[in-house]
Amino acid sequence: MTFKPANNIQDLQYFGEFGGVNPSISDSSTYTFLSAKTMFDTFEGNADGCYLYSRHSSPSNLYLGEALAAMENTETANVTGSGMGAITSVIMQLCNAGDHITSSRTIYGGTYAFFKNFTPKFDIKTAFVDITKLDTVKAAITKQTKVLFCESVSNPLLEVADIAGLAAIAKQHGLTLVVDNTFSPLSISPGALGADVVIHSLTKFINGSSDTVGGVVCGTQAFINDLRNVNDGAGMLLGATMDSLRASSILKNLRTLHIRMQQHSKNGLYLAKRFENDGLKTVYPGLASHPSHKLFKRMMNAEYGFGGMLTIDVGSLDKANQLMELMQHKNLGYLAVSLGFYKTLFSAPGTSTSSEIPEDEQLEMGLSDGLIRFSIGLDADIARTYQMMRDCMVALGILK
Ligand code: PLP
Repeated sequence: MTFKPANNIQDLQYFGEFGGVNPSISDSSTYTFLSAKTMFDTFEGNADGCYLYSRHSSPSNLYLGEALAAMENTETANVTGSGMGAITSVIMQLCNAGDHITSSRTIYGGTYAFFKNFTPKFDIKTAFVDITKLDTVKAAITKQTKVLFCESVSNPLLEVADIAGLAAIAKQHGLTLVVDNTFSPLSISPGALGADVVIHSLTKFINGSSDTVGGVVCGTQAFINDLRNVNDGAGMLLGATMDSLRASSILKNLRTLHIRMQQHSKNGLYLAKRFENDGLKTVYPGLASHPSHKLFKRMMNAEYGFGGMLTIDVGSLDKANQLMELMQHKNLGYLAVSLGFYKTLFSAPGTSTSSEIPEDEQLEMGLSDGLIRFSIGLDADIARTYQMMRDCMVALGILK
């Protein structure tokens, strides 16, 4: 692919009120009007460039949204107070009572719980499928299906979605393809591959400093206008709004995302290769043994690598817990959920981020007890980190 998402971010110029190199922060929830007529026109959506109330939009949120839209190659974007705020508002905007969703079965536990337990209250049902099998996806589409949902790289099993293939199916059946790209920013550009709506939890790699939650919906101007509509827009009415101070700080972090992703990917590939070589069951899209390695290679913006997420299976939950505690004790990372931090984070998804998924379903999708999900950090000396992790595994009898 020749798409250059980081260039698109860096080519944007937003200056501050006094010529600052960063845009000024709009530290207001409401905006004055010189005439009552302009206020009315703004309410009606007919006064370009005017701001009304910050749940609707604010300059700081628009700057961040435009930068993320440039990254994802979509017309525009709407930032939200969390990744779940992005996902829930998109689904509530696209689906009415009686509608149906076809979704990957390996998705973030919160999204899974929303589809499984929450949307049925509005008579919106979801079929969960193996997203890597396009025929299975097709077979799960009904006359009521409105949305095809997946993660580019799934949480926590790191399954890779064939976005162009899914986009073709979505087009054929008149569905909206919604892709959560949280695990693979810059590496994969779902919009350029045919996704209609691209979502991120900004909480993760994009912000990168584990100091906020945030989300974004990237899509067409028409769809984002719908989300923001004061009368029936789910973004506007459900109220998952980002604060302007946060939007401003996330925009500053976004500008170094390309360097961070390169380092996360470099370290991820290094560890994955070593772990696999040591005989550990290792899943990482950059390994030739990953079932979708070739697909990822075909889709990726090569300079950003295969990402910072990998899993290993150490056989049992007990062993997984012992290893994570020991690695934390040796300061190799933190026993914590979430991802995209400078420090490595690890957790056992079955008992944490995917605990919303019932045990029998976890088993069916291959989410085993001994699975540890790593978000690999920005370690300057990854060879040393590897050696120390290996020592921990030897001490616990996981490796000889
Ligand atoms: N999507 C993915 C893939 C995630 O991993 C998460 C959170 O872990 C979310 C969405 C939800 O994001 P947030 O916690 O910002 O609401």
